[in-house]
Amino acid sequence: MASSLRIALAPGDGIGPEIMAATLDLFAAAGVTRLIEFVPVAMGKSEFERGNTRGMSEDAIRTVEDCGVLFKGPMETIKGAGGKSINVTARKLWNAFANLRTFRTLPGVETVYSRAGVNLNLTIVRENIEDTYGGVEHRLSNDMIQCKRLISAPGSDEVCRFAFQTARRLGVTRLHCGHKANIMKMTDGLFLDRFRAAARDFPEIEAGDVIVDALCMNLVMKPQQYQMLVLPNLQGDIVSDLAAGLVGGLGFAPSANIGKHISIFEAVHGTAPDIAGKGLANPAALILSGLMMLRHLGLTSHAATIENALLAALEQGVHTGDFGGGGVSSGKPALSTKDFVKGIVERLGSKPATVPPVPVPEASTHALLNRPARPAGQTVIRTFSNVVRHVVGCDIYLDTPLSPVSVAEEMQRIAGDTPFKLTLISNRGTQVWPTGSVYTECVDYYRVRFELRDTLRPGDFGQSPCVALLDKIAEKFEVCSYELLRTFDGVKGYSMAQGQ
Ligand code: NAD
Repeated sequence: MASSLRIALAPGDGIGPEIMAATLDLFAAAGVTRLIEFVPVAMGKSEFERGNTRGMSEDAIRTVEDCGVLFKGPMETIKGAGGKSINVTARKLWNAFANLRTFRTLPGVETVYSRAGVNLNLTIVRENIEDTYGGVEHRLSNDMIQCKRLISAPGSDEVCRFAFQTARRLGVTRLHCGHKANIMKMTDGLFLDRFRAAARDFPEIEAGDVIVDALCMNLVMKPQQYQMLVLPNLQGDIVSDLAAGLVGGLGFAPSANIGKHISIFEAVHGTAPDIAGKGLANPAALILSGLMMLRHLGLTSHAATIENALLAALEQGVHTGDFGGGGVSSGKPALSTKDFVKGIVERLGSKPATVPPVPVPEASTHALLNRPARPAGQTVIRTFSNVVRHVVGCDIYLDTPLSPVSVAEEMQRIAGDTPFKLTLISNRGTQVWPTGSVYTECVDYYRVRFELRDTLRPGDFGQSPCVALLDKIAEKFEVCSYELLRTFDGVKGYSMAQGQ
């Protein structure tokens, strides 16, 4: 029978080819490979070694874009300058904006919680593109390096709405937003705002929020109080690995990177170079990621059959050498990757006895991908328009070894005949002028804030006087960067300094 579903396939590096081959053997035994044509693509270490800095060939890019789905094994990130993670590149390039991970107690996988009789079932959605993962970093002075944290309204909106839609689909009744909006009032504040706005369209789902540090403690102490979480990228990355630890480690943590046009399915763990080539690797996380992919494709019956066989195998003590802190309780010897999968294949058609089996639908819908049309060009997504913006000043960032008082004297002198007055100097975000503490230690990188003089009105000036001021300061100082201070519909678009 001709396959009508084409999936791009990248086995990956290290243990990748071993666990991918094992997963495909299982899929073949379950009849999946009759319905899917897996199209191999060149991605990963071999492409980097060929000098391809993106880590994927042009052919691979085209194939993934044509197929709309990529099933991938772990890929090595070349360490050191210039070596960008291919995993992050792929998610960003194809706008796979939501990282969806499920964490649940599996039979035969012993953890602190399973021993206490606590069954976990937690879903985490992590924003996958923005935040510090933009990788926008600069050395600003001898002693200061900056990483820009970018959070956008449309990006937050998309991922929060995806989280609510997924909650609805999964029948989840409570969704929490994890954040740090008490400190990062503007960036995490925006993420939380968009979460709350999305919540209004899903009244049947109880929406709550929790500060991420408290969330981590709660997850360790009483993880069952959460059903589902949505978080910004970096916090979501950390919290989701914590959650993996609760259910036995990364070997049991599948993940889907979902976008409007292209989605990527992969295990959370890496290439495990220490055991690569030995046939010892645990393919469970990749198999579980593959099951997320089959469900995404509409092959729900096949996914349920394979999942029941996996659960049955795990509860009967079929396991590979344990790793990542998860314990296996069977007392039986560890199996090779191949024998582990053989144990699952032998149980295809059977169901687990100690946990509820996954209901098997009559037949897979074998849905063709219902993808929106390929965009004609890159699109600009926006959530706001017609906002009235006024320039009210600028923050100028200096690389200087001077003291705060000396910087203030120089800045006041330079700003003398401009529309601006010096209102603030801060160092590492803490106000050091006009008031400050002698106990505040300064480094060689200052922010100096200029605001319009009281006699001037916002709206009287555009950006040019700020650029002129910048120019004047640059005659005497090394200016690292500058940011406009603006109001948006009368609301300040900038934060205060600590201690201001
Ligand atoms: P890792 O996850 O590869 O390994 C951590 C530990 O877990 C090792 O002891 C390893 O043997 C073990 N382990 C991991 N997966 C296993 C499995 N399926 N079965 C049995 N044991 C397993 O993390 P790392 O060592 O930090 O990273 C190695 C490489 O993987 C790096 O180049 C990193 O950039 C890359 N990586 C890739 C991805 C991805 O492709 N999505 C994710 C994480 C790391």
